[in-house]
Amino acid sequence: MSAIDRKEAVNLINNRPPMDVKSSGKLADIWATDVFDLAKMKQVLPKAIYKSLEKTVRTNSTLDPSIADVVATAMKDWAISKGAGYYAHVFYPLTGATAEKHDSFISPQGDGSVLSEFSGKLLIQGEPDASSFPNGGIRSTFEARGYTAWDVTSPAYILETPNGSTLCIPTAFVSWTGEALDKKTPVLRSNAAMNKAAQRVLKLLGHTDIAQVNSSCGAEQEYFLIDAAFGNQRPDILLAGRTLFGKPAAKGQQFEDHYFGAIPERVQVFMQEVEDRMYKLGIPAKTRHNEVAPGQFEIAPVFEAANVATDHQQMVMTILKSVAKKHGMMCLLHEKPFKGINGSGKHVNWSVGSATQGNLLDPGDTPHSNMQFLVFCGAVIRGVHKYGPLLRAVVASASNDHRLGANEAPPAIMSVYLGTQLADVFEQIKAGDLKSSKAQGVLHIGVDTLPKLPMDAGDRNRTSPFAFTGNRFEFRAVGSGQSVGGPLAAMNTMLADSLDWVADELEASIKGGLELNKAIAKVLKKIMDDHGSVVFNGNGYSAEWHKEAVEKRGLRNLRTTADSLPVLKEKEIVALFERHNVLSPTELASRFEIYAEQYVKSIDVEAKLVVEMAKTKILPAAITHLTEQVESFSVLADSNIELDNSSIKTVAAQIKAMQVAVAKLDVAAAKHDFATIEDHMQFCAKDIRDLMESVRAAADTLEGEVADDIWPLPTYMEMLFIK
Ligand code: ADP
Ligand code: MG
Repeated sequence: MSAIDRKEAVNLINNRPPMDVKSSGKLADIWATDVFDLAKMKQVLPKAIYKSLEKTVRTNSTLDPSIADVVATAMKDWAISKGAGYYAHVFYPLTGATAEKHDSFISPQGDGSVLSEFSGKLLIQGEPDASSFPNGGIRSTFEARGYTAWDVTSPAYILETPNGSTLCIPTAFVSWTGEALDKKTPVLRSNAAMNKAAQRVLKLLGHTDIAQVNSSCGAEQEYFLIDAAFGNQRPDILLAGRTLFGKPAAKGQQFEDHYFGAIPERVQVFMQEVEDRMYKLGIPAKTRHNEVAPGQFEIAPVFEAANVATDHQQMVMTILKSVAKKHGMMCLLHEKPFKGINGSGKHVNWSVGSATQGNLLDPGDTPHSNMQFLVFCGAVIRGVHKYGPLLRAVVASASNDHRLGANEAPPAIMSVYLGTQLADVFEQIKAGDLKSSKAQGVLHIGVDTLPKLPMDAGDRNRTSPFAFTGNRFEFRAVGSGQSVGGPLAAMNTMLADSLDWVADELEASIKGGLELNKAIAKVLKKIMDDHGSVVFNGNGYSAEWHKEAVEKRGLRNLRTTADSLPVLKEKEIVALFERHNVLSPTELASRFEIYAEQYVKSIDVEAKLVVEMAKTKILPAAITHLTEQVESFSVLADSNIELDNSSIKTVAAQIKAMQVAVAKLDVAAAKHDFATIEDHMQFCAKDIRDLMESVRAAADTLEGEVADDIWPLPTYMEMLFIK
């Protein structure tokens, strides 16, 4: 195989006919056409029923079951008018994937005829066979039943596939004992907890009219595109989502010429179709551009309510993959598909706000809202300091470890970047003497007359994992392939906890006779005294920071998933989630089990692939090359042509080294008798990964020696630069 296949792939790509994708029309014509949103419900539902439903959505309350039948029928009629013959409860199991169980609307009648039917009961509750989804020991198999429950706050939509259309109903997935088995449920619960605590604080700040406080999320998705003709020849990409071998191309990203560069035409056509699909589904795609690495791109929708954004983000990943396939490409969502080339993240922009108070993380124009802003911002600072290790744990995965803690953006140490001006304000708070702002022209201000804090947009620090960016925080440690649900649930919960604490402190101070402004100054100072060490505005990659963070500031550097997942078992974290009714101890324990198992399994798959690819592809090619070289040199020597034949020794030595490493890895990968899953994780993180690296080191050296026409794998150059 191989050489010919690689050449054929290049031919195939050169001769690919251009994709003919016409934009489906003006944005206004296609916007949300495939979504059964409130606007459409308003048109088709009786007024009273629509009102009840709208209120349920607006206030995140429970759906009145008596209206379910009417809603279901209207939804079904709409879906059938859009060509759908099936419906599916869509849910988000802990594998991070999206799951659907498709059912037909068909309902056979006694007389042999059929009707299309969809009842309220089928709309609000489904019962997929849950036994094949991970549950972390929550259910024994005889009760392996799971329920899906319609999440009214996330609208139903039509999913078009080549095999027909399906009405998709976003749902929460719970066990029959009511325990969450999915990513969505904690997001909903954490939002409720955050709302409750935020209401307390806002009341203390003097507000009387306070609408539901919601979290918002705008997720920037980075991804790679490679031609499928190459990807299909790489077992590592097919099964592990990344290259386990591959020598860096002579040209990488050192010229930084890709970032914001012209988007190649083929990719533009791809993006056009992705965006059209997103618009039809009511997902507000906004920015698209090249990323730093060759072949890397980004798409970001406008932010939405966290719960909806979570569902939409999941849909974006599905759309990217399926459209890429249609266009003869592969979309890689892995956090580090190529060694030596920038990885992919998913920056989660997060803020909280209400219809009455607006964005609570917006510094705003008036002194009053500034004060409020500082309280909420301070609460976030406290949260990241207290629960930084949790933030690390919720983005932990075998693939994301290649970014975090591996000299890439961002580091595994959780710190908060505030920007110079805001950091200065908080420093003054800490000094107990808030007088001035670094902003020009605004001086002498007490807590009740804080300066206008302008958006700090020019002052960006790309090395911080948790950065204030003008009117929101941006959590940058989330991996490109991950659900944003886990991070959002963690952020909302840590904020709920901090806001509750702030409210307790304020109440106590006020009771003690302190006036509001003084009470706020006091609580903010306390936050800075106890938690200010998490604020860091410098270079997060530097070795000095790693030393200072750990040794002087007591921040934890949890480099691997094996180091960070056990945080989920720590007493403080268990108590945090339980106190705010986001995850019970059982639910949290099950999550630890599932994620730990997933980690071990991912590395197991990679280790096996390394062994297999080494034995069946790379070693045979290298040995063939060596044999041919030896023969050639000996023929030449017979003719008295003496050439430098040192490469023979190099190749032979690398082949030997590779054989030794492969044998060791083979043995290590078979080891499964560990006392605890923690031990097994550590073994994967250290021993297995190291052995994989040593096989790779030899293989990548060989790639630089072996004749290109017999090299069995598409190269970095081919995958990254041929489109
Ligand atoms: P950058 O690449 O400079 O970080 P982008 O414009 O690519 O910025 O992405 C910013 C993301 O942040 C978008 O999804 C945007 O909608 C989102 N965003 C903007 N304001 C807020 C906010 N208040 N809360 C949450 N997300 C926000
Ligand atoms: Mg960003």
